[in-house]
Amino acid sequence: MHVICVASQKGGVGKTTISLNLGLALARAGNRTLLMELDAQGSLCLSLGLPDRARPGIAEVLTGAEHIGNVLLRTRDPQLHVLSVGRVDPTTVAGFEEALTRTGMLTGMLSKLESEFDIVLLDCPAGLGKVTSRALEAATHVLSPLQAEPLALRSVGQLLALVDRVRAEKNPRLTLIGIVLSMFDRQTPASLEVAETLWTRFPGGIILDSVIPRDEVFLEASLRGSPLLLMQKRPPPLARVFDQLANDVLDRLDSQSGAATEEDD
Ligand code: ADP
Ligand code: MG
Repeated sequence: MHVICVASQKGGVGKTTISLNLGLALARAGNRTLLMELDAQGSLCLSLGLPDRARPGIAEVLTGAEHIGNVLLRTRDPQLHVLSVGRVDPTTVAGFEEALTRTGMLTGMLSKLESEFDIVLLDCPAGLGKVTSRALEAATHVLSPLQAEPLALRSVGQLLALVDRVRAEKNPRLTLIGIVLSMFDRQTPASLEVAETLWTRFPGGIILDSVIPRDEVFLEASLRGSPLLLMQKRPPPLARVFDQLANDVLDRLDSQSGAATEEDD
């Protein structure tokens, strides 16, 4: 089972949108896929049109009220399941995060899913804080969305350093799949320039070839909670962007097969 941590320093860069649509594309390609929501804000389930905090999920597993196998949510695609944060009251987010980041908690949950799924995507909260750190410790791989903007170069350096540190100190198998440019606007010369600099400065495929364009349809899809309809009934060209990303990710999973790589030395 591959566990891909979708993480970035910044919020609002497309982590949830990418987790969701990549999860759909991986499932459509025949992989038993689990979307695991680690952000207590619950936007993954909201974007899927699943009622906000209405069903048990991770929070209930953490308290021992539910077994993890009983709280996996089905979707229209039989290959795709979702594990929501569960009933996390906005005032108890700190307690939820503390329970989730207890030593061995996340790893223990994932080990119970080992035979059920080929790929688990961990949709992390914004920032490289405790939840993301634990997710990186429990994962086999990292995928990081990045917006092409002037400070992006620095963010890449920080991310690579963090991945190196987690690999050295806690999780030797952690492998960087790559950085995916998100909300990319070809009309903006500055974005193109930053992207070119990134591709040149970080060779060896650290910046993935697949680029997610900025498009209003993502905003509409999150508001309506209908990415499944969007993807399955009438797949627009944008769905193909995620099929492409899924191909890139699957290629890397195959070629890396869990071995740590040297790309960021
Ligand atoms: P994060 O999980 O990193 O906070 P989200 O995926 O929730 O980011 O995206 C933040 C907001 O931007 C959401 O309203 C989402 O619908 C919108 N969004 C995400 N990706 C795109 C995109 N490629 N084009 C336009 N809007 C996007
Ligand atoms: Mg998010």
